[in-house]
Amino acid sequence: NREIHLASRPEGWPTADNFRLVETEVPTPGPGQLVVRNQFMSVDPYMRGRMNDVKSYVPPFALDAPLDGGAVGEVVAGEGNGIVPGDTVLHGLGWREYALLDAKGARKVDPSLAPVSAYLGVLGMTGLTAYAGLLDVAAMRPGESVFVSGAAGAVGSMVGQIAKLKGAARVVGSAGSPAKVERLRALGFDAAFDYHDGPVADQLAAAAPNGIDVYFDNVGGEHLEAAIGALRLHGRAAVCGMIAQYNATEPPAAPRNLALLIGKRLTLRGFLVGDHGHLRDQFVQEVAGWLREGRLSYDETVVDGIDAAPEAFLGLLRGDNLGKMLVRL
Ligand code: NDP
Repeated sequence: NREIHLASRPEGWPTADNFRLVETEVPTPGPGQLVVRNQFMSVDPYMRGRMNDVKSYVPPFALDAPLDGGAVGEVVAGEGNGIVPGDTVLHGLGWREYALLDAKGARKVDPSLAPVSAYLGVLGMTGLTAYAGLLDVAAMRPGESVFVSGAAGAVGSMVGQIAKLKGAARVVGSAGSPAKVERLRALGFDAAFDYHDGPVADQLAAAAPNGIDVYFDNVGGEHLEAAIGALRLHGRAAVCGMIAQYNATEPPAAPRNLALLIGKRLTLRGFLVGDHGHLRDQFVQEVAGWLREGRLSYDETVVDGIDAAPEAFLGLLRGDNLGKMLVRL
């Protein structure tokens, strides 16, 4: 069994030196425990925050211990909670080839309904984040105009497509490369731009000349400032992530225009996907239906091997991924 440990805490941008590949024995399950051969593990932006030794909504990763995070795999030993060897499960002990966990911490998934990787992305945590953030937190209504940043990523690409499927009048996305912008147009976004091409406020004004009603924020900073400027009366922002500042060592310079919240009666609402589990069944049913009907597409960027997991994580922060970034183990 090979696993990735946190060797040191990054300051600013992480590097390969912050991680260590460690070999251990394949574990043996005790009563009520499972051993899972992980097939896919997720790398996610929130993991960057857990590398810092600060109090947050999830505890920090420990030094010299394996990292953790979403994973799917096949149970190879142990049983409990109605789960037996041969079952495919979703659980929270990624960053290792074999996971030993309490059966209570695993959820059975059906590998005949979708490729198992989908349970980490489009039908999993990032998909639910998009669905809940757009429809519940921002309460998007048909006929509204929506802007989403980080639009070519796992969450953002779902936000834009779900907005269209739910009757948005205009959907605008921003992303970090010409290829990503092209992909957004193919996914049905009405307009898309590369945020490297000029001030976000100018590009957003050109893409949504009449303004926006909803902003789904994955990026923060200059993007959030531009969105506050473009939001119309009673506009809402679902504040999902601020990846532009996860590696920053100084506080961000923007947004500088928060006073606009008053006159425009704007709502900026932060949220965590974990608080929206009550929507999961409805989300899976609706998204699985759109996938079956060919009305929703999803991208995955897959990196192979546990030894490449740190590089996959660094690549995610750099923007190497189209859609969900995954490691195949
Ligand atoms: P993505 O698949 O979107 O991957 C991250 C992307 O961020 C990269 O591909 C890169 O794309 C973009 N990025 C990196 N640096 C910058 C920057 N400085 N400015 C603009 N874009 C940047 O990840 P996820 O879909 O998993 O997550 C998206 C956001 O949602 C993150 O902020 C994450 O923290 C948040 N999140 C929040 C949850 C919640 O419960 N609140 C749950 C899940 C995710 P590009 O090439 O376009 O720059």
